[in-house]
Amino acid sequence: MEKPESNYGFREQTVPVKEKEKLDKLNRKWFKYLKSHPLTGDQLPRLGTAGLVSTMQMRGQLSTKNYKYGTYEDYEKVSGEYLAEEYNIVNKGCLSCPIKCARTVMVDGKPVKGPELETLGLLGGGILNNNLEAILKWNYELDELGMDTISSASTLAFAMEAHEKGLWDNGLTFGSTEEISKVWDDIAYRKGIGDDLANGSRWCSEKYGGKEFAVHSKGLELAAYEPRRTVGLGLGYAVSNRGGCHLNGGYMVLVEGLSLAVDQQNPHGKADFTMIFQDLMEGVSSCGQCLFTTYAFLPSLIISHPQSWYTKAFCKIVPYIGFVLRIINKLPTGIMHFHIPVIFNQSKALKLITGMPVTFGSFIKAGRRGYTLERHINTRFGIRRKDDSLPKRLTDDPQIPGNEKTKVPLEWMKNVYYSARGWSRDGVPTPKTLRRLNLDKLDSYKVTCEEFKK
Ligand code: SF4
Repeated sequence: MEKPESNYGFREQTVPVKEKEKLDKLNRKWFKYLKSHPLTGDQLPRLGTAGLVSTMQMRGQLSTKNYKYGTYEDYEKVSGEYLAEEYNIVNKGCLSCPIKCARTVMVDGKPVKGPELETLGLLGGGILNNNLEAILKWNYELDELGMDTISSASTLAFAMEAHEKGLWDNGLTFGSTEEISKVWDDIAYRKGIGDDLANGSRWCSEKYGGKEFAVHSKGLELAAYEPRRTVGLGLGYAVSNRGGCHLNGGYMVLVEGLSLAVDQQNPHGKADFTMIFQDLMEGVSSCGQCLFTTYAFLPSLIISHPQSWYTKAFCKIVPYIGFVLRIINKLPTGIMHFHIPVIFNQSKALKLITGMPVTFGSFIKAGRRGYTLERHINTRFGIRRKDDSLPKRLTDDPQIPGNEKTKVPLEWMKNVYYSARGWSRDGVPTPKTLRRLNLDKLDSYKVTCEEFKK
């Protein structure tokens, strides 16, 4: 019998599951593991991503004053702990999720979605604002206007610095936040300075100057993690297919400070890890699973005991096993004809739902194909090595004056990354790489940029 229409006007559907009993069993075990893991069972449910503000401060990764600094003296006033204590009224999350990472807060007497770490960082220290109540309000206003808090906040910080440096007389100053709600409206309705701000920081820097501190990659503003103190993520931001995105960039900060203390400044091995993390996350995203489940990929034993000899040893050797990963990355994924138990259930879940012969190897390969296909399409639009870039502030100016290690050694890491991916020195996937991933036939679709625009 056909199902009736739901209240939302579309027919309710159920997802047909190939092996339901086995999936239920796997899910029970998976939920249990997620709940016992320090990140997915404690930190995310307790504080959400907002809980990362304090960790980032400790590691010098909290972008402050338009990424000039990596720490903010008032960070406690915009931290996840303070948010939970003073404003969080209830935890929320997606249906049946055991993590429930979202927060609900009150704004003008209404329960609304609370801010994530990015919003707290960029609308806090990013513009030298320690007023958490204002951030809750702006977060709500930006959501209502359909505007991204990362790009809005970062473009605002750029405009403040351009004003401070005398490049752009726009009336915006760091730490002065009374008129910010009006700025959001002006951006949305393209009025006054909002008409320029609406184009983002790259565009504004081309008009007014200040390219060296317009913090974006390929026109997309970066997240709140200051990459000079997480150089693997610095590479990820730069090579990411959709611009400066921390998730499409591989999210190396997870091991470079957030959950493990792998040397943040050591570039060795980071390119290989970036590639494998990007492929895994691409696989997880493309089959509709939540990326937060990948937090549990790092075994809880090493996360729970950061001072143990084995965790310290693990963190020390990670940068030096890049070459091992490079060999694994070059192996045909078909030989990884298994699933990784306990810590990575995503591939098995996909197999049980669809009935497709998915293994860990084919899951990674699917992610790699997706990532390479995106790049292949980008190269048709002219994207090359020169576009995998960061502003000079992050590659040329050390975060800690005099400490040359506290900047992103981007060009060196790009060479290793392109080689690991099987791309040319100019960042173009080679014909051999495309063949290996069964993407070479796509060249018969000669869609050019001009045809696409039509
Ligand atoms: S599914 Fe993901 S985004 Fe949704 S509540 Fe769970 S952890 Fe958060």
